[in-house]
Amino acid sequence: GLTSAQRPTATRTTCGYCGVGCALDVITSDHEVTAVLPARDGPVNQGHACVKGRFAHGYLTSPERLTRPLVRRDSRLEPVGWDEALGQVARGLREAKDTGGPDAVAVISSARATNEENYLVQKFMRVVIGTNNVDNCSRLCHSPSAAGLTASFGLSGGTDSFDDVERSDCLLVVGANPVEAHPVVGARLLRRVLGGAKLVVADPRAVGLALHADVHLRPRPGTNVALFHGLAHILLAEGLTDEEFLRERATGLPELVELLDDYPPDRVAHITGVPAADLVAAARLYGRARRPAIVYGLGVTEHLHGTDGVRSLANLAILRGAVGTDRGHGVNPLRGQNNVQGASDMGALPDLLPGYGKVTDPAVRSRAEAVWGVRLPERPGMRIPDMFAAARAGELRALWVIGEDVCATDPDANRVAEALDTCPLVVSNELFLSETALHADVVLPVASWMEKDGTFVNFDRRFQRVRPAVPAPGQARSDFDVVHALAALMGADLGCSTPGDALAECGRVAPVFAGLSHERLDREGAVPWPCPDPGRPGQAKLYQERFATPDGRAHLAAAPYLPPGETPDDDYPLVLVTGRRWAHYNSGSMTRRGGNLALDPVDVLDLHPDDAVRYGVRDGEQITVASRHGQARLIAKVSEQTAPGQAFCSFHFPASGVNRLTSDHADTVTSCPEYKVTAVRLTTG
Ligand code: SF4
Repeated sequence: GLTSAQRPTATRTTCGYCGVGCALDVITSDHEVTAVLPARDGPVNQGHACVKGRFAHGYLTSPERLTRPLVRRDSRLEPVGWDEALGQVARGLREAKDTGGPDAVAVISSARATNEENYLVQKFMRVVIGTNNVDNCSRLCHSPSAAGLTASFGLSGGTDSFDDVERSDCLLVVGANPVEAHPVVGARLLRRVLGGAKLVVADPRAVGLALHADVHLRPRPGTNVALFHGLAHILLAEGLTDEEFLRERATGLPELVELLDDYPPDRVAHITGVPAADLVAAARLYGRARRPAIVYGLGVTEHLHGTDGVRSLANLAILRGAVGTDRGHGVNPLRGQNNVQGASDMGALPDLLPGYGKVTDPAVRSRAEAVWGVRLPERPGMRIPDMFAAARAGELRALWVIGEDVCATDPDANRVAEALDTCPLVVSNELFLSETALHADVVLPVASWMEKDGTFVNFDRRFQRVRPAVPAPGQARSDFDVVHALAALMGADLGCSTPGDALAECGRVAPVFAGLSHERLDREGAVPWPCPDPGRPGQAKLYQERFATPDGRAHLAAAPYLPPGETPDDDYPLVLVTGRRWAHYNSGSMTRRGGNLALDPVDVLDLHPDDAVRYGVRDGEQITVASRHGQARLIAKVSEQTAPGQAFCSFHFPASGVNRLTSDHADTVTSCPEYKVTAVRLTTG
């Protein structure tokens, strides 16, 4: 007979890859994963999952998994015990603080960490170190969504649940490739389109959904703001706006009307390269639909003017009265990673406490101070790019990176590596010896999403439980335990000894989460925030009575179109856009270690056939791609998916060096990198 450990066991958890938040049943036997099954009653995935969530779990047992802490001695990383490793971190943090003050220490947290871990990390920094120098990887993806949606509507999240979006009769999908990057959402969108909804796709590439679009707008990368203004101009010119909504519930119309005078279809066609007739067709579809919905991705945010892009896109929903009403399904960002929404919700941000209260607001601070029993720093901390700049300048003396491979995924990677090499103490919490870990002084082996307990928040603001299906290997510990242990070594007690306690405490700091608890999530499965009351459901669709802005109205934005930071020239004639392929996830550290590797074995550069001829590149050939910032080696793929004059590649294989190409241009409001526009040239051989 089977021992109890050998008997197959199912553990319900939430996928740790993209932001869709598929509920998965992880089947284990003898502490090993034997299968991952999509849960039929999963609220978002409804029995589906993609190639990442289902099959990319080989990394769990990879021989390359880190199982012991490492510290650098004589330029080599050597295995040591936890006491020694954490002792070195504690001493280093104290020394950095004594030498440069609390602001000489910073942490980069991430979506790899649960909500409870993010909550604890930001509490550690604010309470034990005394600085607001805490940021998370949303800085690099959807920080413009946070800023833009908050300014337009009041809260930092999508406006409607995905179930609402699926009731729409016209989908406007912008700057996103959900068929590959969010496959379960891609499938649900497609199901809706096949069921009769109209589809407008706005994306420079012929992404999977574009094949099914009624209109496919292909703007030049970096021209989104002009595109959205062009659509808004047509909505106004053709009387497709909701005048009562604009009068009763919005503000900013006169300024926008004046601005839109400058964006007639012909001029917008000239800026964006989109034919004027297509602009008119798209605006009419969106403008005449009964319940239109906007879904968008990083093609909107990762720009020099990403926040203006989000706000100009939000203008369309406001003009149409298609947000906060039953006449539409709002504006909905597809969050890239499993828990970027949650990392920000939990206050792993330099200017905001849990629940998005400003650190500069005395009333917000005093509520947290009452719970945490300390006085909090009031000056906002550094954003991720500022941390690297401060490290290079010798001002940042300790940097702790939790679950991010910043040397592989942040832009202008050569300069990131220089920052880490200059900083006296770099600590990396990691699963593998990543590019970042290789530059660290202390590497701490941590548990992955299948090995820990807590919650994630998905792209439509649902809290869902994460449960350990297998034990972490060797001496690896959860980030939650690591933060607690470090605090204890530094003489502090962070309280909330379990993840459940941490979520409960977070609800006392941030009333929007006060109705949430592990027990409730165990009972109900998923609960969206805002959720201030344990006895009432969370709000899936927002703003039905009033917007969460100070005046209760939706705010139209009148930001002029401004060109991107990088433009092609004779030396660098192509515009490179980076993004994801379907089998892999971000730096690929998990998805490359298993069967998914065979599906997408290298980073590939897509190139239009005309450009392949022009630059003498053959399909499958190895090429060198150079930008004004660095070089990468990639395999060429000749494909009409990419428009002439543009190139596209993924960044799943750090060895190819894609982020040595990308620039340090960043959104002027939030510092989100301009990953979507880099001027490059190609050389063969
Ligand atoms: Fe679902 Fe995204 Fe995980 Fe795929 S990667 S299973 S779509 S959550």
